[in-house]
Order: sequence, then C-alpha cells, then structure tokens
Amino acid sequence: MARDIRVTVWNEFRHEKEDDAVRNIYPDGIHACIAEHLNAQKGIAADTATLDEPEHGLTAEKLDATDVLTWWAHKAHKEVSDEIVDRVQKRVLQGMGLIVLHSGHFSKPFKRLMGTTCQLKWREEGEREVLWVTRPGHPIVEGLGECVIIPHTEMYGEHFDIPEPDELIFISSFAGGEVFRSGCAWNRGAGKVFYFRPGHETYPVYRHPEVMRVITNAVRWTTPTGTMEIGAPNKPMGWFEK
Ligand code: ZN
Repeated sequence: MARDIRVTVWNEFRHEKEDDAVRNIYPDGIHACIAEHLNAQKGIAADTATLDEPEHGLTAEKLDATDVLTWWAHKAHKEVSDEIVDRVQKRVLQGMGLIVLHSGHFSKPFKRLMGTTCQLKWREEGEREVLWVTRPGHPIVEGLGECVIIPHTEMYGEHFDIPEPDELIFISSFAGGEVFRSGCAWNRGAGKVFYFRPGHETYPVYRHPEVMRVITNAVRWTTPTGTMEIGAPNKPMGWFEK
C-alpha cells in the first residue's frame, strides 16, 4: 500500500495571536484548521510549521520529508529568511508540491518561483465571490459543480502580475464587478505550484466545505510522482553505433 501523502501546512500565525476577531474564527490558527481537515482525509498525513519556530519550522529534514507544502501568510512576509526561501525553492524544483493560499501571493517563496511582482488589487468589504471552474474534469475540481460561492470575503482584482499560468482552473467574479484568476497552476522544475485565492483571515473561508475540497484535491494533484536527476555529466547511452 502506498504511504500517506506528507503535507506540511505552513502559517505565519500572527493575526490569530494579535486580533480577537481572527482568533474567534481560528482559535488554534489557520494552520491547525487546515491540517485538521487534511488529516481527516484518507491517505493524507498533515503536520504544521509556523514563522516563529526555529528555521520557521522548515528545517532541511522537515522539507525533505514533505511531499506538499501549503503556505498562508499576510503581514510578515519580510520576516521569512532568504535561506528558507532558497530551501523551499530547491525542494519545489526537485518535485515537492507547493500550494500558495490567498495573501501568500506576496510571499517570498511565491514571488521567487514566479519571477514577477505578484501584485494585485484588493478591497475589504465582505463581498460575495463566485469562483467559476474554467477546467472541468481537472483533478483539482473533482467533486465540485460549475462554481463555488463564498458569501462574504475580501476582493482581489486584476491585474494580477503573475506569469501566464500553465493551467487556469478558476476565475472569480466579485459583487463589486472585478474578476480575478483565483486558481492557477504552474510547473517549476519537477514540482507543481498551485495558487488558490480564497482565505482572508477575518472570514471563516477555511471552514467552507468546497474550499477545503479544492485544497484537498490540490494536495493530491501536486504530490510528486517521481524525482528527476538533473545537471549531471552523462556518458553516451550506447544505443546506436557511432
Ligand atoms: Zn486577505
């Protein structure tokens, strides 16, 4: 039997310590909520790591034993050390899956892997969001209908300064009129990167069943399927006469 997918759920974990409104929604932190959901799924074993742990909880040993890393952050992107960013980037290029959530769009690892500013427009007025599926049949939308509705959330709008996604899986529309590429996937080296927009800290978005279904599907989809040896000297293969 195949072993469980090893997920590390990373969270900055600052809003929950400093803001009562956020703590009321996520008393043990956003990471605990996501990890609890993932651990209830068959074949997934999730652990957590947070910014204020030594090495942000992402030691080389921990990352080597991680198949998929999820990343939520908002107010302390600058406190993430470049050494850890190097480490995360290296593991993605080796094949580790990376799922970047909501305001993680502006995190150092995501910006490093994208190579663009990753800027966007935003407005915090508790608007309705409709995430439309643009890739029916994709493993990430398994079990969903044609759209997911989030009744109240922060708005993100275009232009989102990212490289053209290899696969565009969701586009959101907002009550205020904007649209946004809310589910985007890229290949980087042997790894898959998935950006998923929902998740502002003052709304219970990570308790929304369909949002959590997408994150679970994305964990399965970004799980490495193998490793690749790159950048090594090669002898002739000997298949043909010279
Ligand atoms: Zn937000």
